[in-house]
Amino acid sequence: MTLVEERISCPLGTWSGEPGKCQLCNQFIESTRRRTWCSNKCAREWQRNHIWRFARSAAKRRAKYRCQELGCTAERRDCEVNHISARNGGGYGPGCHHHLNPDKNGVGGLEVLCRAHHATVTAAQAKARAAARAKSKATETKTKKSKPVKKLKKRL
Ligand SMILES: [Zn+2]
Ligand SMILES: [Zn+2]
Ligand SMILES: [Zn+2]
Repeated sequence: MTLVEERISCPLGTWSGEPGKCQLCNQFIESTRRRTWCSNKCAREWQRNHIWRFARSAAKRRAKYRCQELGCTAERRDCEVNHISARNGGGYGPGCHHHLNPDKNGVGGLEVLCRAHHATVTAAQAKARAAARAKSKATETKTKKSKPVKKLKKRL
């Protein structure tokens, strides 16, 4: 999916795909100095749900820099941000996989964990991935397809 297609289909926004309209809220962009978003508010809202460094700091701020694991006693600021739905090597490029909140099916979203809990979760995800891989290897067909990863141009 290209960045434009993703912006049109992003459940957080209502962009119709028309140029000259805000790529988040679909309002006409009145300022001649803006091309992508109608306001700083929309630009920031988009950034913190789609660009990793913004999403990461927004997630930490939201969690008040504390591990979200129930009953965790780790120090404040001992925190890292985890994709609740494992990225499985999907990378950290811009996209809807950085949404702060899970979608209506409970998929995705970011959570804040201390280093220890993050390591536990990551290890569990890797284990699940290895198990899934072993399973699919057993039933592998020759319909293996690898999509070339397109470099997304940043147009903020
Ligand atoms: Zn807007
Ligand atoms: Zn999105
Ligand atoms: Zn913790």
